[in-house]
Amino acid sequence: MNYVSTRGNGGVTTAAGAIKQGLASDGGLFMPEKLPELDEKLMKKLSEMDYPERAATVLSMFLDDYTYEELLSDCREAYGESRFPGGAAPCSAVGKRMRILELWHGPTAAFKDMALQIMPRLFVRALKKTGEKRTALILVATSGDTGKAALEGYKDVEGVKIAVYYPVNGVSRVQQLQMVTQEGNNVAVYAVKGNFDDAQTGVKKIFSDRSQIKEADEKGYFFSSANSINWGRLAPQIVYYISAYCDLVAKGDIEYGEKVDVCVPTGNFGNIFAAYIAKRMGLPVRKLVCASNKNNILTDFLSTGVYDRNRSFYTTMSPSMDILISSNLERLLYLVAGSKATAEYTKQLSETGRYQVEKEVFDKIKEDFEGYYCDEENTSQTVSSIYREYGYLSDTHSAVAINAALRFAEKVSDGTKIIVASTASPYKFASSVYEAITDKKAPEGPEALEALSELTGVEIPAPLSGLDKKKVRFTKVIEVGQMPETVRENTI
Ligand SMILES: *Cc1c(COP(=O)(O)O)cnc(C)c1O
Repeated sequence: MNYVSTRGNGGVTTAAGAIKQGLASDGGLFMPEKLPELDEKLMKKLSEMDYPERAATVLSMFLDDYTYEELLSDCREAYGESRFPGGAAPCSAVGKRMRILELWHGPTAAFKDMALQIMPRLFVRALKKTGEKRTALILVATSGDTGKAALEGYKDVEGVKIAVYYPVNGVSRVQQLQMVTQEGNNVAVYAVKGNFDDAQTGVKKIFSDRSQIKEADEKGYFFSSANSINWGRLAPQIVYYISAYCDLVAKGDIEYGEKVDVCVPTGNFGNIFAAYIAKRMGLPVRKLVCASNKNNILTDFLSTGVYDRNRSFYTTMSPSMDILISSNLERLLYLVAGSKATAEYTKQLSETGRYQVEKEVFDKIKEDFEGYYCDEENTSQTVSSIYREYGYLSDTHSAVAINAALRFAEKVSDGTKIIVASTASPYKFASSVYEAITDKKAPEGPEALEALSELTGVEIPAPLSGLDKKKVRFTKVIEVGQMPETVRENTI
């Protein structure tokens, strides 16, 4: 299967090539030239499989230069009991219509593990398949969860080094502790003075800086990404929507062919885009509900067709969604409007911070998507009300989606089931969750986890307990302008 750039000028490569490279040479994102199809026969087969088999089967439709055996072996390791105790992506009923798809039972307690446990394995195979001799330096800008999940996925992987950049005041205490205590001999972590977009722009700059690429190459290195712009991140996310559908059918909760809605707490637009791909492949999905926090640029885009980043940036209690440039939206634009238009939109975005899609493009997007946003107060209230009404303990990101799903269900009151992606353990954002439920100030740092556990009786996930007792290894705080220097530090 050929992979091409969303901007139309990045040549053609294989899946392994796309995963190795991360970003296309014209600055666009890689996309498969054609989307594979799901039919009823295949869905029946998938229903009878366990999660690793489902993942290998779906991935093999996209990554046709990997053998099924390779993929199955990688998926068994990535999604097995040792990394996802109790199953990779359980889906449970909360109320009549909501089906909450919990994607955070992996090693770092956020949904990023769903992709970042498998992606390093795909990446190492990609290096072999493409005959790469150099060491990869993976550069990651993170709004909190990607950083830790990538560090955990790539630690001590041969032929790879990883440097993570997080906004100094833009992540939760637990997220920060998870990163600065990371173990492994090939890892580095930096706090950047700025917000997530500053860190992401810094990384993108390094990726396109010819002199820096050349310098690294001479030292035997090349740059790659683990951000959700990499196809190796995106493809594994398609799997769990298909898997959840299979599970609902198997439970008799829906009948095969019955449409469901899907609601996703959205930042970089990767997770919801994976759901869109599943829909395009033939999964019976009606609407994709895009849930944003106070940084509601996508809500505005989905109601006006104008994407305008010239606006205030807010730091919220759902920091992994504090984003003004949702990179994966470019993939949607490509599928709906084509590469020429996409190149033009992205050019306008980088020059003026704004673009407007044509009416036909907007209408097409609106057929599939609907945007909602939830401010801080409503996020808190949702955490609290969903706990009081259903005994369900939700993190702040998932609460943004639950809030959107409830409002959507009220508007479209036909009883259609709505799969809500739950993207983090409540304990990852324990202080905010505690404060939402009790209306009292939470204890500082990791003590909030214990307080929340005492209050609710819900167990703290193993990867999050004892964080405060781990050794802090990374304390550097840098300016955005110093990011190139840190690359030099890591390529010697
Ligand atoms: C990354 C993340 C999101 C946003 O996902 P995107 O794919 O970037 O849209 C939402 N919630 C949590 C907890 C996350 O870590």
